[in-house]
Parts: sequence; structure tokens; C-alpha cells
Amino acid sequence: MDLQTDIQYLKGVGEKRAKLLHKLGVQTVGDLLHFYPRAYEDWSNVVSIEDARIGEVCCVRAIVDRKPVGAKIREGLTLYKTDVTDGRSIMQLTIFNNRFLAEKLEPGEEYLFYGRVGGSLWKKEMNTPMCEKAQGGARIRPIYRQTEGMPSRTIERLTATALERYVGQCPETLPQWIRDRYSLCAVEDSLRDVHFPPDMDYADHARRRLIFEELLTLTLGMRLLRTRSRKKSGSPVRADETPAFIRTLPFTLTGAQQRAIRSITADMAKDTPMNRLLQGDVGSGKTVVAAAAVYNAVRAGMQCALMAPTEILAMQHYDTMVRFFEACGVRTALLTGSSRASEKKKIRAALESGEIDLLVGTHALLTPDVRFANLGFVITDEQHRFGVEQRAALGEKGTDPHILVMSATPIPRTLALMIYGDLDVSVLDELPPGRKAVKTYAVTGEKRERALGYVRDHLEKGLQGYVVCPLVEEGDTPLAAAQEYADRLRQGIFRDHAVGLLHGRMRPKEKESVMRAFVRGEIRLLVSTTVIEVGVDVPNAVIMVIENAERFGLSQLHQLRGRIGRGEAQSTCILISDAQNDEALRRLRIMTQTNDGFKIADADLQMRGPGDFFGSRQHGLPEMRIADMLEQTELVHEASACAQALLQRDPELSETQHRPLRAAVEKLFSQVGSSGMN
Ligand code: ADP
Ligand code: MG
Repeated sequence: MDLQTDIQYLKGVGEKRAKLLHKLGVQTVGDLLHFYPRAYEDWSNVVSIEDARIGEVCCVRAIVDRKPVGAKIREGLTLYKTDVTDGRSIMQLTIFNNRFLAEKLEPGEEYLFYGRVGGSLWKKEMNTPMCEKAQGGARIRPIYRQTEGMPSRTIERLTATALERYVGQCPETLPQWIRDRYSLCAVEDSLRDVHFPPDMDYADHARRRLIFEELLTLTLGMRLLRTRSRKKSGSPVRADETPAFIRTLPFTLTGAQQRAIRSITADMAKDTPMNRLLQGDVGSGKTVVAAAAVYNAVRAGMQCALMAPTEILAMQHYDTMVRFFEACGVRTALLTGSSRASEKKKIRAALESGEIDLLVGTHALLTPDVRFANLGFVITDEQHRFGVEQRAALGEKGTDPHILVMSATPIPRTLALMIYGDLDVSVLDELPPGRKAVKTYAVTGEKRERALGYVRDHLEKGLQGYVVCPLVEEGDTPLAAAQEYADRLRQGIFRDHAVGLLHGRMRPKEKESVMRAFVRGEIRLLVSTTVIEVGVDVPNAVIMVIENAERFGLSQLHQLRGRIGRGEAQSTCILISDAQNDEALRRLRIMTQTNDGFKIADADLQMRGPGDFFGSRQHGLPEMRIADMLEQTELVHEASACAQALLQRDPELSETQHRPLRAAVEKLFSQVGSSGMN
């Protein structure tokens, strides 16, 4: 039996409990040891009834006077009452509806009661407290994330068993010199103390070590990935041919776009490959910046790849690039998972013989049989959707190509540091001129008819619009719901207009033809599930209605709304929601008040908390068990410095004392590899 042992075989678990533990992400005994408490209850500070302060949460030790007596107040509500005493004073215990607790209490036995103190100075009372046998109960108790049928207390008991038997087998990943330098405790102590701390100082100390370890492993992994792809020097692009490209554009670049292009050409002229993040709110014009860089790289004789997270986006990038490059002879091709086999073959051959300059696609670009003659520049759009491994995989197809990452997600600096290491950043903080801010309104379902009538008015003026479908109720299939909704609109208020439907279950070819028809203006109203979320760009579409707006996150609403307001006409977004609760109303209000993506991301972060915002699917990093990067800025920096020192001393982590750490890094990143793509 070891740490890899299936949790089912831990004493006290069995098949049924194992299933529940799986729900919490615990598969093995080792997982349970690393299933850390989310909070603690302090039962160590036991007070007498006399000292227990009214209104505060206290832990009182007392003997039960008599068996609690139940009284049925009304159907479904039974009240149990008894007195408890600590020899000096008496306290009344009231238990609501908890027969289990009431029957557990034995007269004459001593217990600890943990709860809020009420009553009067004359006679104090506690309502439905938590309770434990007094023996051994006076300590700090861990509180775990629980699930139905698997309460925190059970997890606590099982963890105690697991610790007793297995903690000795946990490998020490941090070598002595690191523990000394950063005052970190040993792995065994940290695991014992994080679950069952003698006092809160021990808990803090244990957490510090575990967080440090987690951050260090992550940072090392990122750095190893980077150095692996940085071994050879890049292919510098010395000349700056971008002005010739810029002259062909139908618009003038914004100052921010010009600055970004200058930074990129400067980066690419160096002997080390570029590694730059291009950040800009929706509609800020990132694509043309990328196109200028592609143009320059192609002029210097290299091939380029542009990878997008969805087929629709890839197709659209392809169309845009073809348009941009019409006059200047950059040979562009599109490769996605749904390209026909014969087409794929042709493209692969042309790619290998160097007849394609720019290949646009989805993660289909990552398959091993896609080989470039001379890949020198790689762009990924909406980067946070790709896993770390995938990014590295595309980089490995060239001899250390220049890399440009485009993202509309505002990423806090600490997090950027973790994800990208020492990546350089360009920010497009200026929208193209003539844009009018999207006007946003939040209305209730009663106004639906009016809102849709307003959409129809726009269509009649020759403009286009979107309606985002209601999110499905449980039991409906998403397809049926979207189809039915679209049919209702088609037969009703929009019967004289061309209505198209786009949903996630469609085959890519169908999606493509709907999308193209919308771009060409043959479809005037696009009814869609959230598949239009990223990147779609149709400047003539100026109105959007979002059903069930309360069910979307703020950042998602912002991305959706970013599909309009891309041309010069005034755009309008109408959020329909019958939500009553404060939080939902607050979110909708924020949407009506600002168009600023960074402000919205901040608000989102505050409301949802970092855990959600930085769920591993968002940024492609392994899930952190304990480290919350926003709050751990100082430790992030310490771990960063430590990683650097460590790699200087032992670049491959091959010394015996560093091998466990290397194994931990490999384990962490193997998880990313398997869960990367959405
Ligand atoms: P995003 O940053 O969201 O990817 P896009 O690159 O899709 O933005 O650009 C949004 C729209 O703005 C496109 O239609 C693009 O052609 C247009 N555009 C980009 N830059 C300018 C500019 N400087 N002036 C006018 N229109 C621009
Ligand atoms: Mg874009």
C-alpha cells in the first residue's frame, strides 16, 4: 500500500464513500493528504459557561443534565431542549429539528459545544451547536469542502487515518538548502499541521510551505518549457517592411497599434526570438497588428502560423488575412479539423515545399504530420484557451520561432508572470477612431416584444443583429431549445427577414456556411448560443439581445457585447433578465454603466473570486490546490527567485537532491497536457 493506493482501500472508506470522494477530486490516498482544509474552527479555546460571551461563537465544555425532550411545534418542526452544566453554571441547549444530535447526547457525559451563545446573563443558551465528546475534542479543527453524503467531519476522520499510515511515505520535494533559505518546514510536518494544527501559527507555517512548493513547481515547469524552446537562437528579421503593408490599409492605424508594431519589429530584429503578449480589449484591432508582423516575416523569407481556439475564429482570421494580403502576395491557407482529407494533403505538401507563407488554423496545426519548411513566426489568438503544452508544441515545429500571443482578457501582472515568465507585453489601449460606445440596457422579460421590435427596426434600415438564445433548462437538449427559439422568431416577428441559427452542436462546415452568410449579409439576424463569443467581427451588426443575461459571467457578457460596436453606427445591447437577486442585478447594472474591459474584469474578479476566474480552463495552467496567486504576491516572487537560483545551479534538475522536485514538475505538467484543450 502506498500513496497511489485507490482511496477505496483506505480503512473506513469502501466503495460508496470512494465515489463521493471522487466527486471531490480525491482518487488516491495521496490525493486525500493533499485535500487541504478550506478553513478552521477553533475548538481549542474552551471557556466556562460563565465566561462565554453572549453573541459570540464559543466552545464550552459541559455535562448533559438529562436526555433532551422533544416537542413538536408544528408539522416538520421539532424542538429538543435540555440543560448542560459545567459545575458552576447552567446553560440551556435548544436543538432544532436535529433528532440525530438530540439522541446522541447522553446524560452525565461531558461534551464540547461549539456555537453562538445567546440567552441572557441570567441563563445563557446555545441553539443547535456542533458537539463532540470532550475527550480529545479541544483542538483546532479543519473544515473541508464537502459534498452530499460526505461531510467535513467524515473527511477529517479519514484524513487522520491516512496521515497516520501514509504521511511517512510522502516524498520530500524541497531540498534542505531551499527549506533553510526560505524557512520552510519539512513535508511531513506541513501535511500534519495543515490538517491538524496544534495552533494557528502552525497552520500558517504549514500553508506557507505548501503554497511555496506549489508555486515553485509551477514556476520551474514554466521555465523549463521556455528554456527548452529557447536553446537555439531565432531567425532575426532585420528589415522593417511594415510601412509598405500599412500603406495598403483602408484606415489609419491608431497610435497604440503603431507602437505595438514598432515593438514587434524591434523584437524580431534581435538574435533571440520574440516572446510578446499583445493585449487589447475587444475591438481594439489586434488582428491588423499581427498581419503587419506576418507581412514583415514573410518578406524576410519565413513561414508563419496563426492558431485560433475555434473553427469559426480560424475561418474568420483566414478571411481577414486574405483580404489584408490581397495586394501584396502573401500566400495564405486554412487548415482546421474539418478540412477535407484531400485538401489537408495538398496543404501539407505545399507547406513542406514552402509554397504557403501563412497557415491559419485551429489546434489541427499541432498534429505531427503538419510540417513547415521554415516556420519562423507563430501567433496564437485568445491564448488563455490553449494549454501550456500546446503552445510549446506549436513552437517546436519551427527552429525557435518568434511568438506573438494575442489576448482580450486583461490578465493581472502576477498571473502573467506565472503564465508567461518574462514575456514582453504590448497593450492596445486605444480604440480605432469613430467608434461609439455600445449603449447597454437591462430590461425584464415583459419588454421582450419591444426589444425584438427594436431589433427589427434596425434590420429594416439595412443593419444586422444578434440574438443570444436563452440558456437551456435542465432536461432540454441545447439543440432543441435553440432550434425552437429560432423557429419562433422566424415565424413571428422576423418572418420577413433572413434569420440564421448558429449553435455548438452544428458540424463545422454548417457553422462555416452560416457564418459566411452572415458576413456577406445574406443572413440579417443571427440567432446563436454562445458560440459567437470570441472574436467574430461583422461591423454591420450593431444590435444584440441577450436572453437570460443573469446567467452569464460579467467577462462573458463583455465578450459577447464586443461583437457589436465594431463599425461607425451607434450600437445597442439589450440584456433581458427576470432575475431578482441583488448580485445578478448588480452585475447587469455594471454592464449598463461601463464598456471598459479592465473595469469589468475587476468587478468580475471581486464578485466571483479568483478561484473561478482563474479556473485552469481559463488560463491553461494546472489547477492550484492551495496557492491563490492574487493574494500571494510576495511568495510568488520568492518562488520565482528560488526557481531562478535553482536552475542556475542545476539547469536540468539532475542532482539527486533535486530529483523529487523534477518528478513533481513532470507530474504537474502531465496533468495539463491531458486536460488542455476545450
Ligand atoms: P480585436 O482586437 O477584437 O481582435 P479586430 O482586430 O477584430 O479587433 O478589429 C476590429 C475591427 O476594427 C475590424 O473590423 C478591423 O478591421 C477594424 N480596425 C482595426 N484597426 C482599425 C483602425 N485603426 N481604424 C479603423 N478600423 C480598424
Ligand atoms: Mg480578435
